[in-house]
Amino acid sequence: MPQSTEIADFIAGLPKAELHVHMQGAASAETILALSRKYPEEGLPQDEAAMREFYRFTDFANFIAVYVAASRLVRTGDDIHQLAVGLGRDLAATNVRYAEVTVTADSHLKVGIAPDELADALTRGRADVLAASGVDIAWVYDIDGDFGIPSGERTLAWAAEHRPAGSIGFGIGGREVGVPRSDFADLFRRATDIGLQSLPHAGETVGPDQVWSAIDQLGAKRVGHGLAAAQDPTLMAALAERGIALEICPTSNVCTKAVPDLASHPFPILREAGVRLTLNTDDPGMFGTDLNNEYRIGHEVFGLDRAALAELARESVRASFAPDSTRAKVLAEIDAYVQTAP
Ligand SMILES: [Zn+2]
Repeated sequence: MPQSTEIADFIAGLPKAELHVHMQGAASAETILALSRKYPEEGLPQDEAAMREFYRFTDFANFIAVYVAASRLVRTGDDIHQLAVGLGRDLAATNVRYAEVTVTADSHLKVGIAPDELADALTRGRADVLAASGVDIAWVYDIDGDFGIPSGERTLAWAAEHRPAGSIGFGIGGREVGVPRSDFADLFRRATDIGLQSLPHAGETVGPDQVWSAIDQLGAKRVGHGLAAAQDPTLMAALAERGIALEICPTSNVCTKAVPDLASHPFPILREAGVRLTLNTDDPGMFGTDLNNEYRIGHEVFGLDRAALAELARESVRASFAPDSTRAKVLAEIDAYVQTAP
């Protein structure tokens, strides 16, 4: 058996945690097809082959157009539940045992889903995924920075009042240029006050300043992407010393042109500097990836061997906000697997 197949098998069987995945962008073509058939008036593809073609990533502009079109298919609590269940199925298929899933609650509220219906759909979806596959999901509520403080206020008020089971984090994503993370400091402080961890995206498309803002002003416990840290040795040292992990999403970074290609990805620089790193998918349905593929990139592009890949899987569990019992269980599963893997 060639080496690449052996490592692919090892990765496929490795129990993993996923810490950076957006529920809407994670939706597979299969899940979106089911919703498209429910709402045929949207004019999106009604058969599998056409949907796969429509959903195939070509460039960033197309990605945004497809994302917006797919978002129009999510109108009710049941649609949210369907996204959660589809994601749970896809996570289980790649041996993800625990996932922190980002939901842009305000965009669902804005299309008219009632606040309690949204919360109930997430609570039910999480329970149904756990029952069906044992995958444990927790929720991170992010805001699109372009929609500013008002969107953050609505999200925070909703999270505080309705609190779906498994709520663990508060985040911010979207455009970084012209949207300083520091503007959101008060919002993140209040999110922390109600028990949500600060998990902002920062330093994906702009320089180290945004990552500094994320850790110093937003109190980030982890940073989404954080690639720009590689340009600033002082920042890398601060991340390493404070134990703040980065959520690295290699395929996403190429698709969005945050990096020109995988060979230019700063993962090795960050790793060399001792920054805690985790591997993730971001929007796997839309970027045509899954977590096994990201680990394969870890092997083929970043040169990680089996032991390093297993350690990366452990690091994702340690950098998570899973309950102690879940952390212990998944870490034990990884250890047992590594000892018995062929
Ligand atoms: Zn993201």
